[in-house]
Amino acid sequence: MIFTLLGTRGSRPILTYEQVKYGGNTTAFKISIDGMNPIYVDGGTGIFREGVAITKANTRGLHAHFLITHTHWDHILAFPFFAPLFMPGTKLTIMGPRSEKYDIKSLFEHQHNKGLIPIPFEIFKERIDFKELYPNEEFMIEKATIKTVELNHQGLTLGYRIEHGGKSICIITDHAPIENNHLGVLMKGWKKDDFTAKEKIFYDTLVRFVKDADLMMHDTHFTKEGIKGKENWGHSSPEMAVDLALKANVKKVVLGHHAPEDKDNDVEIKIKSARDYLKSIGKSNSVEVVALSEGDEICL
Ligand SMILES: [Zn+2]
Ligand SMILES: [Zn+2]
Repeated sequence: MIFTLLGTRGSRPILTYEQVKYGGNTTAFKISIDGMNPIYVDGGTGIFREGVAITKANTRGLHAHFLITHTHWDHILAFPFFAPLFMPGTKLTIMGPRSEKYDIKSLFEHQHNKGLIPIPFEIFKERIDFKELYPNEEFMIEKATIKTVELNHQGLTLGYRIEHGGKSICIITDHAPIENNHLGVLMKGWKKDDFTAKEKIFYDTLVRFVKDADLMMHDTHFTKEGIKGKENWGHSSPEMAVDLALKANVKKVVLGHHAPEDKDNDVEIKIKSARDYLKSIGKSNSVEVVALSEGDEICL
């Protein structure tokens, strides 16, 4: 399996001279498996350049699956501009959760509202199949096993685990600390007396989900200090990613969904912060922590 980082940023795209190393496109990843069509996770602006490259290399169109973590704009913004959708041979299956009262198909269609963009959804309606997903599902995409888990973020947000040939990749974004901070729609029914028990079940489920993963991409929108007072914004710190990785015996952590205002130096501060934390608890060799630049690949 090859993991490719296509978009590293959260919230909105940005690029200044102080951000060229890690990149400014919003969240998107590609999982490539020999003999299979590609699997993408999310369709932030990181898929735009990928789409152009596909149309240059191939005139028959693209067959692929997209696993959408959730439908906040930074995760789906590039679809109206994804070049393979304009090729008649393209067939995409877009899978993901509903949010609030809308299903995933309606949310995609809404992006093409006449007043927002002059590209009618009808142009490529026939080239997309939609499938709604829920937490705790398990299914196959060709030769790969896909699993889902609920994350702590506004609306309904899914984490994904992709397994093939004894290797596994987990994508955990967007996600906030759970202690006294219940952001997901499925948590709205939790009763106050049950909070501690529910939080433990939620976190234990997440630990089991990422258990023994070879690679875990984890939301690190905030630094350790930056998250203070913003726990209800729906995001994590490097220390949270490391804690989860240690509890679950994850081998490698990729930091991502960086805040748009983070300069390259700020991303490097997050890497150092995660490694210093591991050192401070005597676990330096237990987990490898990296941040990738757009286009970087990790072969498993
Ligand atoms: Zn996001
Ligand atoms: Zn979000």
